[in-house]
Amino acid sequence: MTARPAAEAGPMPQPMAGAADIPSLERVLGSGAGRSLAAGVGRDRLAGTLRHLLDEARAAALAGKLPASALAPASLLDQARLRLHAQDTPRLRAVYNLTGTVLHTNLGRALLPDQAVQAVVQALSAPANLEFDLATGRRGDRDDLIEDLLRELTGAEAATVVNNNAAAVLLMLNAVANRREVVVSRGELVEIGGAFRVPDIMQRAGARLVEVGTTNRTHPGDYENAIGPRTAMLMKVHCSNYAITGFTRSVDLAQVVEIARRHGLPTAVDLGSGTLVDLTRWGLPREDTVRETVQAGADIVTFSGDKLLGGPQAGLIVGRADLIRKIKKNPLKRALRVGKLTLAALEPVLALYRSPDLLADRLTTLRLLTRPQAQMRMQADRLQAVLQQAVGNGYAVHATAMFSQIGSGALPVDQLPSYGLAVRPAGPGRPGRALQKLEAWLRQLPRPVIGRIAQDALWLDLRCLEESDEPAFAQQLQGNPA
Ligand SMILES: *Cc1c(COP(=O)(O)O)cnc(C)c1O
Repeated sequence: MTARPAAEAGPMPQPMAGAADIPSLERVLGSGAGRSLAAGVGRDRLAGTLRHLLDEARAAALAGKLPASALAPASLLDQARLRLHAQDTPRLRAVYNLTGTVLHTNLGRALLPDQAVQAVVQALSAPANLEFDLATGRRGDRDDLIEDLLRELTGAEAATVVNNNAAAVLLMLNAVANRREVVVSRGELVEIGGAFRVPDIMQRAGARLVEVGTTNRTHPGDYENAIGPRTAMLMKVHCSNYAITGFTRSVDLAQVVEIARRHGLPTAVDLGSGTLVDLTRWGLPREDTVRETVQAGADIVTFSGDKLLGGPQAGLIVGRADLIRKIKKNPLKRALRVGKLTLAALEPVLALYRSPDLLADRLTTLRLLTRPQAQMRMQADRLQAVLQQAVGNGYAVHATAMFSQIGSGALPVDQLPSYGLAVRPAGPGRPGRALQKLEAWLRQLPRPVIGRIAQDALWLDLRCLEESDEPAFAQQLQGNPA
């Protein structure tokens, strides 16, 4: 199913060339075709590529394996053009995310709304008041650009932003608990994909982790007993990607806050995904909002910009003014700060939250998460024949109901009814190999299509194929009969 090699040796014996027949670099570059190719890619770059090709030709000639036809300047330039073209294909490319996981970490998590895209383009191409106070004409602080909005949306006294939530947790711990102890329940010592583990981050931040309770049960008394003269704070961590069920007990935030306050200590919460609105309004699973967490008494809350929030990669820290001030003064803040592109994208995304009733329409992430199943079903019905035609009769394509996941730290047990295409190998033989071939073919399309293999089928969930993308999606399938 993959593209056949471009040039297969024909049956006719070809005349071979010797090293003496190889044209000079100057002759190839100076030909009409050479000059016009050089105009596009630059003479230096073309010369470099041609030098490689001529070296290879020389080696082939010495081995008696150089067809004379490969030596014409036009042929050498064609080879050079192909190489340059391959080099120029960006490594970071747009794909279709049909995995069914909306916030897919490997595929870049949240997609940003148009307002954010426009703001980034502007920040890229024009000077901006990144650290310049337009009201006074004096030097400003880049956090000022989003702090008021974050305060308004979360009810917190102050806010700051760093490169991602892992950085937010690292910075917060170092600023508030360096060389001191942080009390965390054993049920909340999470590992997020990649290398984010609460105990490791804690160590790198210079804080000492004091684990309390057991994996499944932690009681208020466990926190109480762990507090000593070296305690800097109590911390709760969102169990983003797992659930502890059965004989369980955890201490809710309000209780932890009550214990901490009695000892004059702050409470920090790593919310992980962190949402600014109640998602049950759209039938999505319940998550504590940042505002509720602040209201429950958390003194510092950290959360991601590119998970449920639907913005750019960022780590947001909100909380008590004195603690945020301490965090901002920490030298790590400078190392972990965000660039102007992040701030440009973040502000319009946050601003959308001022109109929660319009959010499901305007915020791309929420729009994808709330798409009605009937919409994906109609898409599946439209695309079934197109894909069947493209993959040929070695496979059977069916439109079928399936479940999507939110991804990025929403519980894996929360599934969203969706619709899509399931492709199963039709012929004899092991389905595994045919599925791998199919999956590889989809990956090499001009805009690669990423699905998921499970239960002897390839599943393409259409939740993240917006209707505006559907014609281009269908067209590249039509243009690529397998
Ligand atoms: C995702 C997550 C993180 C890491 O956030 P990034 O923005 O990916 O750095 C940290 N803590 C929790 C609980 C998370 O869910």
